[in-house]
Amino acid sequence: MLKQLSESIYYMVNDNERERPVLGLVCGEKYSLVIDAGNSVQHAREFLTEIQRLQVPPVRYVVITHAHWDHFLGMNEYGDAIVIVNRLTEQRLNEWREYAFDDTALLEHVENKRISAHAMEVIQNEMLDRESFRPGTSGMVFEGTLQLDLGNKVRMLEQIRSTHTDDSTIVYVPEEKTLFLGDSPYSTTTRSLFHYKQHCCFT
Ligand SMILES: [Zn+2]
Repeated sequence: MLKQLSESIYYMVNDNERERPVLGLVCGEKYSLVIDAGNSVQHAREFLTEIQRLQVPPVRYVVITHAHWDHFLGMNEYGDAIVIVNRLTEQRLNEWREYAFDDTALLEHVENKRISAHAMEVIQNEMLDRESFRPGTSGMVFEGTLQLDLGNKVRMLEQIRSTHTDDSTIVYVPEEKTLFLGDSPYSTTTRSLFHYKQHCCFT
């Protein structure tokens, strides 16, 4: 079940046991926009099944908020939807596109600290057919700010440097006064730059 935040915004709650972040859905009159692709094939498929139940306009865009594995490994599941990333995220994804994801490769990723040992377990459990898996191509790469028209509603995407990562994209939905922050509020330092209302924070 997706949670409904407002008339046109839904989200799938995070699951920390399986390192699943929140996935967002914003529906305009013509198209819908997904925020973050999911941490695995299975995560993405479960999200898409829930979206189908809602009978909302088709998913035209998938925005990946930053290039951490748990936000993009489900990206190949969204059919014809256009995957959108900022330029820095694209650079990082290009590195991941060079990597393999079979068991030997996953062990190397753990050794090189690209992912944790727990992340490896999650990927092994939720992405069964990984022999030839590679993250797919992005359909749109932006720098700075981008506006998307979903019909009646325009979404703003903006690239920011957060304390979590320097390639963060945030998604602002002005009509609903809602901001999707990805992992941006997660600070790796004590200098918190962000003071958003709790209900607007999707981490
Ligand atoms: Zn992250």
